[in-house]
Order: sequence, then structure tokens, then C-alpha cells
Amino acid sequence: MTTFRAPSRRGFTLIELLVVIAIILILAALLFPAVGVALRQSRRAFCLQQTKQIAALIYDHAQNNNLFLPDAAGPWGLPDAMADTVRNPNVYRCPGDRFAFEQHGSSYIYPTTTAHGIQEVSGRKLTFFSYPSKKVILYEPAVTQTSSPVSGEYRWHTTGMRASVMGFLDGHSSFVELGTNVYTSVHAVNHDYY
Ligand SMILES: [Zn+2]
Repeated sequence: MTTFRAPSRRGFTLIELLVVIAIILILAALLFPAVGVALRQSRRAFCLQQTKQIAALIYDHAQNNNLFLPDAAGPWGLPDAMADTVRNPNVYRCPGDRFAFEQHGSSYIYPTTTAHGIQEVSGRKLTFFSYPSKKVILYEPAVTQTSSPVSGEYRWHTTGMRASVMGFLDGHSSFVELGTNVYTSVHAVNHDYY
């Protein structure tokens, strides 16, 4: 004669399982946005350090070239113009950028023409600029709406506001809020920067 014995440890009931799943989902919802924000902030911090470094390299390059800033062929041409000084191409890669570096070899625009409210700097002499701390020499293409392959807009370091990491001629960098008009954006919002 066989006897049927209930297991000494019963498993989860359906209700208990659903409660556990609900708790996990709530925790995930609480945790993941925080992880996303932390990641975004760390990438931005890295990018700010990086633009500072590039701005310093540009300044050094000018010091070694009779005070003339690198003369680039186009807005993405800085790596070529600096090839004799900077050999590591990853210097120009922002960790938040998923397409500009792949497409252009740089995450940062170097002003070879006056655009987005930022004056041309390429090939000019250092002494041409009276306020180096206000002179933008590098910026991320968060200001352009038209050239992005992804949903018509670049936003590498923010989900909401329109803003861009920028490097300045005096070697500092900053996360700058931009205007809504892409063509006058920096100038419109930050009269101090040019
Ligand atoms: Zn960046």
C-alpha cells in the first residue's frame, strides 16, 4: 500500500508569486530611471573633461603654430587639422554620442564657419579674440535638428532640455543650454558666448 505524502515545503501560491513579481516591477521602475540618470551624468562629466582636454590641445597647437588656431577643412575636420599633435582618435569621441563619431570621426563641431550663433574660429589668430573664456571653439551637435539620423534631433546628454557640451578658448568647458531656434540657439540664450 502506498501512502501519499504532501511535500514538507510547499511552493509559492499564485498570489504570493504575483505579489513578488509586483514588488520586483516596482523596484525596477524605481531603480532604472536612477541608473539612467546616473549614467547620463557620468557621461556628461566625462565629456566635460574631454572637451577641456581638447580645448587645451587646441590652445597648445596654436602656441606651436605662431598663435594660429588649427585650420580645418570643415566642421568635423579638427582631428585632421590636429593630426600632428593628437594621434589618438578616441580623444574626439563623446561617450554619449552614438552616431557623429562613427560618421564624421568626431563628436564635436569645430567652428569653420559662423553657425548656430557661434563665430568661425578655424585658422584665426589667438589674439583675434578678446574674451577667450567666452569664445566657443568646440561644441556638440545638439544644436542641429536637421543632420541627425535619429528622430531629427541630437540630444546626447539630456532627455528634455536642449543643451550642448562646449569647449572654450581659455580651456574650460561647460554644459550650455540652447534656444529653441536651431540657427540662433546659442546666441539667443547665451549672449555672453560667441
Ligand atoms: Zn558629450
